[in-house]
Amino acid sequence: MSSTYKAVEVSAPGVLRLVERPVTEPGAGQVRLRVEACGVCHSDAATVTGTYKGLTLPRVPGHEVVGRIEALGSGVSRWKIGQRVGVGLIAGEDGVCEPCRRGDMVNCENPVMSGITTDGGYAEVMIAEARGLASIPDELSSAEAAPLLCAGITTYNALRNAGLRGGDLVAVQGIGGLGHLGIQFARHMGFHTVAIGRGSDKEKLAKDLGAHVYIDTAVDDAVALLQRMGGARAVLATAPSGDSMGRLCPVLQSAGNSSWWACRRTRST
Ligand SMILES: [Zn+2]
Ligand SMILES: [Zn+2]
Repeated sequence: MSSTYKAVEVSAPGVLRLVERPVTEPGAGQVRLRVEACGVCHSDAATVTGTYKGLTLPRVPGHEVVGRIEALGSGVSRWKIGQRVGVGLIAGEDGVCEPCRRGDMVNCENPVMSGITTDGGYAEVMIAEARGLASIPDELSSAEAAPLLCAGITTYNALRNAGLRGGDLVAVQGIGGLGHLGIQFARHMGFHTVAIGRGSDKEKLAKDLGAHVYIDTAVDDAVALLQRMGGARAVLATAPSGDSMGRLCPVLQSAGNSSWWACRRTRST
């Protein structure tokens, strides 16, 4: 096995550079992965531009990582060499802060964050905390599984924690990295699924993904149309624009939910 690996690091704000790094051994409680796939998330932009609070460069971005374990650090007992695993954004809690002590690890005040506090998956090799790993089932290819580690879990948990029941009307705003997964989850969870996008070119994709209805905001008034349908029980807002999210609030039925896009808040449970 080569003693070095290739990685793409942010060497300065806005500068991605292909580099060769020495392979290192995982520390206590860590594993070393041979990366098979890594999704590209919009949040990676905060690493690439160097704007994430507390970020130091150089840093390898990437927090939708699937790889095979090739080395175990001391004290790692539940994972095996050769096992395929995933790593998301929140890749290890400190276990001692107030939210952690309440059992709310996803809101840890001092988490290990892939691509931000530690090097992520834009690389052939990644060191990850064993406690932050997810097992990847054989039925999923690595490329299919990778986006589930952030975009998928964000939308899935938003929907399943929104107090919805089968048949409820759910609007999914935005048909991008998160929205294309949110539509599929909403449809398969049995909700009446309304996709909201801009432009007619997204309609076929939205319908193919399972949307019952597509609203094109370039020509239609989404609020008026949804209110005519009786309102939404939840709005899954995936386009990170406060303005476009805020405009949809009136479509919520009483006691409805607005499940905002938030990588950080929705990883666990
Ligand atoms: Zn993300
Ligand atoms: Zn904590």
